[in-house]
Amino acid sequence: MNRTIVIGAGFGGLALAIRLQAAGIPTLLLEARDKPGGRAYVYQEQGFTFDAGPTVITDPTAIEELFTLAGKRMADYVELLPVKPFYRLCWESGRVLNYDNDQPQLEAQIKQFNPRDVAGYQRFLDYSRAVFKEGYLKLGTVPFLSFRDMLRAGPQLARLQAWRSVYSMVSKFIEEEHLRQAFSFHSLLVGGNPFSTSSIYTLIHALEREWGVWFPRGGTGALVQGMVKLFEDLGGKIELNASVARLETTGDRISAVHLTDGRHIDTPAVASNADVVHTYDKLLGHHPRGAAQGASLKRKRMSNSLFVLYFGLNHHHSQLAHHTVCFGARYKALIDDIFNSNVLADDFSLYLHSPCVTDPSLAPPGCGSYYVLAPVPHLGTADIDWDREGPRLRDRIFDYLEARYMPGLRSQLVTHRMFTPFDFRDELGAHHGSAFSIEPILRQSAWFRPHNRDAQIRNLYLVGAGTHPGAGIPGVIGSAKATAGLMLEDLA
Ligand SMILES: Cc1cc2nc3c(=O)[nH]c(=O)nc-3n(C[C@H](O)[C@H](O)[C@H](O)COP(=O)(O)OP(=O)(O)OC[C@H]3O[C@@H](n4cnc5c(N)ncnc54)[C@H](O)[C@@H]3O)c2cc1C
Repeated sequence: MNRTIVIGAGFGGLALAIRLQAAGIPTLLLEARDKPGGRAYVYQEQGFTFDAGPTVITDPTAIEELFTLAGKRMADYVELLPVKPFYRLCWESGRVLNYDNDQPQLEAQIKQFNPRDVAGYQRFLDYSRAVFKEGYLKLGTVPFLSFRDMLRAGPQLARLQAWRSVYSMVSKFIEEEHLRQAFSFHSLLVGGNPFSTSSIYTLIHALEREWGVWFPRGGTGALVQGMVKLFEDLGGKIELNASVARLETTGDRISAVHLTDGRHIDTPAVASNADVVHTYDKLLGHHPRGAAQGASLKRKRMSNSLFVLYFGLNHHHSQLAHHTVCFGARYKALIDDIFNSNVLADDFSLYLHSPCVTDPSLAPPGCGSYYVLAPVPHLGTADIDWDREGPRLRDRIFDYLEARYMPGLRSQLVTHRMFTPFDFRDELGAHHGSAFSIEPILRQSAWFRPHNRDAQIRNLYLVGAGTHPGAGIPGVIGSAKATAGLMLEDLA
């Protein structure tokens, strides 16, 4: 029997391949790069391990479900370590908030910012939990294939005021500006502008409070490896350096995939974890459906890109938390520049990853591996020459970190590398170099997002950040559950 094909071994593709294989559907996972993981790629240099992308692991239950449905124990494949605090939030004024799920400690810190916001925060948490129940637990893993599905969800979305933005909703409960930033920045973790993304994304706060923040021993790459091993233990087959060039169609069905190495593989069904624009426009552009859908997707708003700088130091900065958010001087205006301006701003806000705080094995003894990222406009918003701007931004960020967070950084530098919007475009096939695919605004969410199963080519499925529910590891693992449900029904 020909294997069902999943294109792309990102978290979404891997989770879907595991679900299919565990249900007895022989599955072939084709990955263009030399390692699995997609945005969760791993660089290893001079004894340093750098996770390229996701580092904040939330909803461990969704990950564990993949192992239990396959009759295995997650603990035999990967160990998740708790991260405390969840994040350290720092402002240039010197103010700091250590954010985690210790309620009394969190409230004591909030009180220092503004006593009136303690009660406001409690009401915000209640709201966030209500959205989490509705938006994540109920709707996060079901496909929105018809507008009726959207209408059914309508009353709840209206009750939760989903038309409001994240920031506007947080501001309804919380007065103080630092705290408003602290409880609204989360949507940026999945490519959403807090000033225009639906308040549904406040659910991330409740999700973190519910299950905590985790980090795999050995790094996020160890989780990817654990999932690959699970898939292979179940009899699944993965091929690396296997780039799909084209989806062969017979009428309105996919019959085979063509690889760039010239191979042709027949298949009963294909699920694409590749970028959605790439899938329709490039892989299926020769079919009227692919051409039309590709053109329509190109008109959608894409989420921002990122500038990521990985660096290894011969020093472990033990003063840092595992995750630090370094807010710059501007919040709303900077975010507006990132999402809407055609130039690179002079300032930035940063996320700093210091994984050796939790797992020292990621660097040689006494050393530290780090990455820092700055949200930047995607290439469709700002046509920046990253070959020129990348090194300049790198130097500005190193200066900033050395002055404020990591004294002596430059003299401790052993190795570094950059990943720019050009790399998101060229390495990952991301439309406009977007880091998180289609922007998660209300009119591009749920039914309005590309569907988990194509409406016309009924054996073409999507999985990953570009389909429902969207980006982030819990999102793409949720998309795999929604897509697997459809495929199992169709292929049974
Ligand atoms: C720097 C960064 C930090 C992040 N941090 C977090 C975080 O802390 N927590 C969190 O939850 N989320 C985080 N995210 C978001 C999260 O990483 C992504 O939303 C998620 O990993 C995307 O998974 P995906 O399934 O959509 O696949 P992707 O990771 O996009 O992988 C798609 C795969 O498809 C392959 N592919 C593409 N075209 C082809 C082709 N033609 N043939 C074969 N293969 C192909 C690609 O090579 C790639 O491996 C972060 C993202 C980035 C970029």
